[in-house]
Amino acid sequence: MPTYARADLAFERGEGARLWATDGRRFLDFSSGIATNAVGHAHPHLVQAICEQAGRVMHVSNLYRIPEAERLAARHVDASFADSVFFCNSGAEANEGMVKAMRKTMAETGRPERWRIITFEGAFHGRTLAMLAATGNPKYLEGFGPKVDGFDQVPFGNLNAVRDAITPATAGIIVEPVQGEGGVRPATLEFLRALRATCDEFGLLLGLDEVQIGMGRSGRLWAHEWAGIEPDVMSAAKGIGGGFPLGAILAKEHVAKHLKPGSHGTTFGGNPLACAAGNAVLDIILAPGFLQRVDRVARHLWRALVALKDRHADLVEEVRGAGLLLGLKLREPATNTDLQERALAEGLLTVAAGQNVLRLAPPLIITEAEADEAVDLLDRALVRLRASLPEPVAAA
Ligand SMILES: *Cc1c(COP(=O)(O)O)cnc(C)c1O
Repeated sequence: MPTYARADLAFERGEGARLWATDGRRFLDFSSGIATNAVGHAHPHLVQAICEQAGRVMHVSNLYRIPEAERLAARHVDASFADSVFFCNSGAEANEGMVKAMRKTMAETGRPERWRIITFEGAFHGRTLAMLAATGNPKYLEGFGPKVDGFDQVPFGNLNAVRDAITPATAGIIVEPVQGEGGVRPATLEFLRALRATCDEFGLLLGLDEVQIGMGRSGRLWAHEWAGIEPDVMSAAKGIGGGFPLGAILAKEHVAKHLKPGSHGTTFGGNPLACAAGNAVLDIILAPGFLQRVDRVARHLWRALVALKDRHADLVEEVRGAGLLLGLKLREPATNTDLQERALAEGLLTVAAGQNVLRLAPPLIITEAEADEAVDLLDRALVRLRASLPEPVAAA
């Protein structure tokens, strides 16, 4: 179906942060399959784990115990705020399950009238019917019938608006610690702490969507760790399978215990093959020093991007983001898609995001030299972009 405006480009091989196209061109991949190839392409440990598991048993269904899933869940529990994990296949599915868990917790604790969720402008929670409503972007909702009820959207970062939106029907709040698709906008750590405090004050549940910024991309395993808070429930996907489809709901016991047999499920979710991939990715990301290295490279890239912005202040308004989810906000008439196209021509893959932002989401294994190379390629792309603009842009 014509659902995607695809670039006329196909890849036949990858290694680390590099991709080779079928026409022989080589690219530096700062898109990572949209923040998904967390450990880069063809990582030998991940490849071996998938191949070995595929040769043993790939899928059995959740009618039986799955040791690979039990092990992966236990390791995620050990490494996070969570007491319990549910595996699924995608970010949207994890978010759907998170909303169900929040509503069910309210229903099972004598507050069934509390079923609505507060979400934020600029959010992205996925493409299912309910997650379109949680996302609230009119562009995505158009033509798909009445918006699913149960989501109340307020401006991102505005605590007064959050407090005003709380009613006797509110079950909780769902927020991305860093909005990805919406324009690489981080919530301030104060805002995340204030949301936690507000949930505690009103007896609400805090749900975090860490599908994009989670799994090490922020420089900590989960981005909320920077704020020193814990959610009640959290969704994950993208990076947790390193490119193999895997999603997860992580929750505290006081939420998880209400999802009794029959209340939720999935056929593929958490199958042996997906969990073998998940375990291999965890082996790499939890190895001593890995996350510190991500943090170091991310700070290096940030500084280089700020210098790039200063050199091209007529085209680049701002560097934003956190960890290895960074964005360049462009000044009109320069657009993110123009720069994305020019960067691709220079050999760098990037992703557009909302608010005229060019998103950089490299694999977490990049080196400082690769970060510098990406900034050089962006430098050249910006020069070409300037030359292509209809008339000289006044210096900022
Ligand atoms: C990508 C994304 C989703 C949706 O994930 P899918 O796997 O595409 O369903 C949800 N939330 C956030 C923050 C995302 O970045």
